[in-house]
Amino acid sequence: MREVETIIVGGGPAGAACAWKLRQVGREVLVLDRAAFPRLKPCAGWITPLVLRELQFKPADYPHSLMTFKRLHFRIRGRRIPVPTRQYSIRRTEFDAWLLERAGALVVQHRVRHIRRENGQFVIDDQFRCTYLVGAGGTHCPVYHTFFKELNPRAKERVISTLELEFPYSWHDANCYLWFFDHDLPGYSWYVPKGNGYLNIGIGGKQFVMKARGETIRQHWERFAEKLQRLGLVQNGALEPYGYTYSLRSEVAVAQKGNAFIVGDAAGLATLDMGEGIGPAVQSGLRAAEAILTGRPLNLKGIPKYSFWQILFPFWK
Ligand SMILES: Cc1cc2nc3c(=O)[nH]c(=O)nc-3n(C[C@H](O)[C@H](O)[C@H](O)COP(=O)(O)OP(=O)(O)OC[C@H]3O[C@@H](n4cnc5c(N)ncnc54)[C@H](O)[C@@H]3O)c2cc1C
Repeated sequence: MREVETIIVGGGPAGAACAWKLRQVGREVLVLDRAAFPRLKPCAGWITPLVLRELQFKPADYPHSLMTFKRLHFRIRGRRIPVPTRQYSIRRTEFDAWLLERAGALVVQHRVRHIRRENGQFVIDDQFRCTYLVGAGGTHCPVYHTFFKELNPRAKERVISTLELEFPYSWHDANCYLWFFDHDLPGYSWYVPKGNGYLNIGIGGKQFVMKARGETIRQHWERFAEKLQRLGLVQNGALEPYGYTYSLRSEVAVAQKGNAFIVGDAAGLATLDMGEGIGPAVQSGLRAAEAILTGRPLNLKGIPKYSFWQILFPFWK
């Protein structure tokens, strides 16, 4: 049995941020992730200046592709609303691997299945033992399912269904477009150019609304793909996306139970207006580390529930 002070389940932005903060003061951390990094994570890869500030790096420090948008082009029921701002796009496959490596923690590829408490500690799959356990395993986090699900049920009204595709593409239009409520989609669709000749396109909407109307996200995707072709933004023939679900922010009643914590998508923290989850994942991961270091309770208050302030005032502290 391998014993460490803190085990973080999941090496995405939430887990990597937590590990980074703990490692900065030399604490012992093991990250368990079922995937080998770099790994695929469905995500448009939009990040706000707050993410860079929280993780203390500047665009020039980032060794992979990062694009800067000085404007986001909103289209709300056909109305054009260009919003001056400062936002960034990264490729998650690169960004997450870089964050995790930068954290300087030991990482073991392992899919966590069973967790039990034993003598005030946590035992994982009879192979790992720890004093502090951080659940950063995203939507299907086993720490959430073992210790937090009943205390913190995820409201079905907050579940978002998504379809997206990231692929090499020599895009001609370097703008970032966001279409809200097209064909009554209860959500929005996006076109996000990436550096090094990649493009991310996708669509997300409230699952329960679509279900109640007898619609599917796939039907919305077909219309979206047609639109991209019509606008000349994408000229590929078949656009075969992959799907994922996650939860928008609910009132997180309990994010800490003794020495167990949940952060990021495991706690369901993505913003209510844009489904932006990287910033909340990073902030909550840092705060879990703070709670471990200080012994004070994990506090998620003040982690933004909406993204629009960060779009309108990107340098607001
Ligand atoms: C299509 C789509 C587009 C999005 N676009 C954006 C965007 O542009 N900007 C934004 O801010 N947010 C966006 N989001 C939300 C964002 O991707 C998430 O909120 C964010 O990734 C949450 O980070 P996390 O670290 O909590 O979880 P994750 O990034 O999901 O990381 C969880 C990690 O846990 C690991 N794991 C899971 N189960 C286990 C297990 N049993 N054992 C071991 N490891 C496990 C996984 O392999 C994974 O590496 C988008 C989401 C989707 C689905």
